[in-house]
Amino acid sequence: MEEEKFEKKKKFKRVPAEIPVDQITPLDITCGSTKCEDELHCFRMSNKDIKKHGRKGVCKECGADLVDWRRMHENDIEDAEYMFNALKTELIRHVYWHTEINPEAIEIALKRGKNDLATRARKLLGQKVGKAQNWNEGRQTPMMGKEIITYAQHATATCCRRCMEYWHNITPGTALTEEQLDYCVELVLRYIDERVPFEEEQNK
Ligand SMILES: [Zn+2]
Ligand SMILES: [Zn+2]
Repeated sequence: MEEEKFEKKKKFKRVPAEIPVDQITPLDITCGSTKCEDELHCFRMSNKDIKKHGRKGVCKECGADLVDWRRMHENDIEDAEYMFNALKTELIRHVYWHTEINPEAIEIALKRGKNDLATRARKLLGQKVGKAQNWNEGRQTPMMGKEIITYAQHATATCCRRCMEYWHNITPGTALTEEQLDYCVELVLRYIDERVPFEEEQNK
């Protein structure tokens, strides 16, 4: 029943101007949603969008050209700060970087600890996006829930092979190399590090 409600909830294609960004939750939008007047875009382009703007890599809605894709596609984890800032110019990623995370997900993450989460992220990503094919491609990562890695994947565009293709230049339909998997896991772990208060917990 819960599931059904999620599916039926109306998602905005373009978030109306009167709705403030900080009131948007992941359940209000899809990876195609935009809020261009607040500089929150969508770089996932269909062939039609590419035709409309005459090129790839710009916002499908307004044509904003904000991401240095060559730099992004270096997939250099040392450049994560740039990559995260670039990711945050896309509405869906922005929302995942700022949305309130289910307190249970935080609690479970704190209990697991960083080492455990690293192992778990590698396993989950390997299963969900690491193989050449996934029967549930595009829907393999839930929008919310009690798994912090889920939030991290959407925030870092490691949630499905299509997002991984345009953000990280990883070809769909191929199994990830160890290096690619390491890279994706590292993005996820850095998000978790930023959003889960591990240190505060230690100092209690
Ligand atoms: Zn836009
Ligand atoms: Zn995705």
